[in-house]
Amino acid sequence: MTAQPVRLTSSYFTNLISSNPFDITNTIKHCHNLEDHRLPQSYRVAVLGATGAVGAELLTLLAERHFPIADLKLLASPRSAGQTLTFQGETLPVVAVDAAAFESVDLVLASAGGSVSKVWAPVAVAAGAVVIDNSSAFRMHPDVPLVVPEINPEAAAAHQGIIANPNCSTILMNVAVYPLHQVQPVRRIVAATYQSASGAGARAMEEVKAQTQAILQGEAPIAEIFPYPLAFNLFPHNTPINAQGYCEEEMKMVNETRKIFGAPELRITATCVRVPVLRAHSEMVNLEFETPFDAPQAREVLGQAPGVKLVEDWQANHFPMPIEASGRDEVLVGRIRRDISHPCGLELWLSGDQIRKGAALNAVQIAELLVAQDRLQSGKAAAIGVGQ
Ligand code: NAP
Repeated sequence: MTAQPVRLTSSYFTNLISSNPFDITNTIKHCHNLEDHRLPQSYRVAVLGATGAVGAELLTLLAERHFPIADLKLLASPRSAGQTLTFQGETLPVVAVDAAAFESVDLVLASAGGSVSKVWAPVAVAAGAVVIDNSSAFRMHPDVPLVVPEINPEAAAAHQGIIANPNCSTILMNVAVYPLHQVQPVRRIVAATYQSASGAGARAMEEVKAQTQAILQGEAPIAEIFPYPLAFNLFPHNTPINAQGYCEEEMKMVNETRKIFGAPELRITATCVRVPVLRAHSEMVNLEFETPFDAPQAREVLGQAPGVKLVEDWQANHFPMPIEASGRDEVLVGRIRRDISHPCGLELWLSGDQIRKGAALNAVQIAELLVAQDRLQSGKAAAIGVGQ
């Protein structure tokens, strides 16, 4: 199957670099009025971390997908209190998070970092809300479902107030690997990631743009968010490294995949690398199965897999790229080939928008699942103990 290539004109790059990808105004302008599509019940929603990269995308998606909102609160740190954001044509204030903010809230979409979630998610649940958390704070907690709707939607129903959204690199890899794993259990996964700057938040993306400009002007690049200049450079993921030499991001891919697949023994190794791409992560994934898995069969399976779009034009050497994955819901998968070094090996390459499917979209899809399951207003009693 082939995909239409994007024409890489100079204005394409200019727009990519100069536009603010977290500005929701244009997207919202094109969305229909919520009233036209409102489901029978509407919900009181709070976005914690509304001013961040994931927060902005959450607002975009809530509008795009016509999530049934009765009331929307925008929460951030005291730094942003007093700012305003536009949603559905309405100007809304950004409020500093405090306990009172969660009163009369059904759903909290949290994307303000692990330490913030650890403090406020239990408070929100005690106040009666269900929290869908983008941080790593609760992902491996045994009582917290870790959900990718294309893979384990049933897990969401067992929530006790908090549902965790997996790590971005993990979601993208899992969406591509799980359909194959269902056909034939995968025995071992070897992954290498090529992670964009925006994976570290809105300020990291601005830092790489500033570094790029500085270098092009012959000046020294300044690194504040990242430990080293990322422009015209790359480095292994800058999270703490354990005694075995694996960084936190790599161990998230290992442990979270095992939890999502329900396969605690699955052998996985990953190398995570930051690359000077603004948005969308890419990954090389090498899979080992019990018996040979043909590339044409894998292509057929992935061609029908939910959340996957095949991008494979071998003659044109056209495969998934971050600039074509940016802003898209699907994980782009291609370059599917037998691994010539192993009879049961299969390799694929993917790019996916880690702010969208790797974070905000996955969270909104979980919220939609809860609406469909009528499980959005049952957080209160259950939350005790989780995250405390
Ligand atoms: P970001 O752009 O840096 O935004 C962080 C948000 O959290 C901002 O709204 C910030 O508000 C808010 N915040 C920070 N400290 C706070 C505090 N003490 N109290 C209340 N709000 C606070 O980061 P991001 O990239 O959106 O990431 C947010 C979360 O999503 C993180 O846990 C991250 O690991 C996770 N995540 C990110 C991605 C990604 O691709 N970026 C993907 C998957 C998961 P102020 O504006 O007031 O500082």
